[in-house]
Amino acid sequence: MPRILRSSAPTAGLVTLLALALPAVAGAYATGGTTAPTSAQIDALARAAGTLPPAFAVAGKYDFGTGENGFGGGRGHQGQDLLAACGTPVVAAKAGKVTVAKWHVAAGNFAVVEAQNGTNHVYMHLRSPARVAAGDRVDPGERIGVVGQTGRASTCHLHFELWTAPGWYEGGEPVDPEPLLRRLAAM
Ligand SMILES: [Zn+2]
Repeated sequence: MPRILRSSAPTAGLVTLLALALPAVAGAYATGGTTAPTSAQIDALARAAGTLPPAFAVAGKYDFGTGENGFGGGRGHQGQDLLAACGTPVVAAKAGKVTVAKWHVAAGNFAVVEAQNGTNHVYMHLRSPARVAAGDRVDPGERIGVVGQTGRASTCHLHFELWTAPGWYEGGEPVDPEPLLRRLAAM
């Protein structure tokens, strides 16, 4: 019996605390009734929950490249080119972790993002070094850089690659990203 009494004492204290706190919380909601959460607040909650919707990789006007600008075009083109003006924002298509962000003679400034399902998204020819670094977590729609033509590129465009797990030059293989990009474009 004394054991029960001892353990019930803190519980009673907690109930008292809740009873004191709840009306205050309810009151805050009631008085805040005229200020609905802003979209920024909702975005912050979605970010925290990891539920932001995917985004199209080019945040601006673009065209799907065809022929040798498509996957498998030319001599084994490993991605899909999205033709857009230099300076157009490039954003993360999905949430993930940046595994590579550097410069390469052919890719120019580029970044690789590993999505939660293990697939990799690669963003190449960025005008300037990526705004993200290896190890960073990115949200869908988060800026990675801007469209450029660094590396081997004859015009301004984003070269986008999709790799199966375990990823870009880590045992995965490049697959045609066009169906994914078309899906994202339609959202
Ligand atoms: Zn390309």
